[in-house]
Amino acid sequence: MRVLVTGGAGFIGSHLCEYLIEQGHEVICLDNLSTGRISNVAAIRHHPRFQLIVADIREEDLLSELIRQVDHVYHLAAAVGVRLIMEKPVETLEVNTFGTEIVLKHASKFHKKVLIASTSEVYGDHNEFPLREDSTRVYGPTTVRRWAYAASKALDEFLALAYHQERGTPVVIVRLFNIVGPRQTGRYGMVVPTFVKQALMGQSITVFGDGQQTRCFGYVTDAVEALVRLMEHPKSEGEVFNLGSDEEIRIIDLAHLVKEKTGSASPIVFIPYDKAYGPGYEDMHRRVPDLTKVRTWIGYRPRLNIHQILDHIVEYYRQNPWD
Ligand code: UDP
Repeated sequence: MRVLVTGGAGFIGSHLCEYLIEQGHEVICLDNLSTGRISNVAAIRHHPRFQLIVADIREEDLLSELIRQVDHVYHLAAAVGVRLIMEKPVETLEVNTFGTEIVLKHASKFHKKVLIASTSEVYGDHNEFPLREDSTRVYGPTTVRRWAYAASKALDEFLALAYHQERGTPVVIVRLFNIVGPRQTGRYGMVVPTFVKQALMGQSITVFGDGQQTRCFGYVTDAVEALVRLMEHPKSEGEVFNLGSDEEIRIIDLAHLVKEKTGSASPIVFIPYDKAYGPGYEDMHRRVPDLTKVRTWIGYRPRLNIHQILDHIVEYYRQNPWD
């Protein structure tokens, strides 16, 4: 099969491209290298079934032509990471909404199946757990910038479902929950690579707020395998799935665990949110997915727990300290 992966040189995208190549597919990777990196696809760069195109998803003619040529589209290109959103809200909104609109329009025109990578952020600051695909969304006001990301991804979901319902476009939506692994960069604020690098370099480990907030961290190779199975499931059209892990950990405990795994002497320090992100930031206190649906549909089981995940990531950054 021929597939297009938008955002294919990003963290998750590059693992997805590798997995698709391994599965025997022909892969076109489209990336504007804004947060993606050529080094992410170094292992497959010269593979005969892999092609890298450096361009923006908002280049509509190119997108249209690429979608015409392929069987499936994995749409991962997006502005991601809390820091990026806080720093560049206009670009976040534009890429996340116009980009998806173009992908859906042409997927619809050529009737190609498209998987929209969405995010757990769409649930907002919920206080009922675990989060089910049909849970309501709880957002702060539009004057608080962090909600722009959640709103832009929710709009993508509405649009994808509208295309499906009104025009029969084959779409599947997957909400990713804190996916981590090798090649994820800490530059845009993600906590796991940040803590691991701080610990390995002997710098202070920066816990934002009081560290009592929790997250569930899923491993990237578990996630990409599931993305492909959801895409290839004959009945997944028009469906929304949570994907990740449901093993919950407090951020303060994550900091201690990273310290232990790295054998680091780094101190753990607490940074107030307004110092970390600028004024007016609201963090999610908890985030736990209900994975019943993805388990039932494709028998999904995360293979690695948080200890094994951190072992892999620590090992990766020991080998690639510059990454
Ligand atoms: N976080 C932290 N220190 C850091 C980076 C992040 O304590 O250096 C916290 C952040 O405030 C949040 C959690 O870790 O509560 C996860 O942050 P991340 O940006 O990885 O993901 P998200 O907030 O999107 O879940």
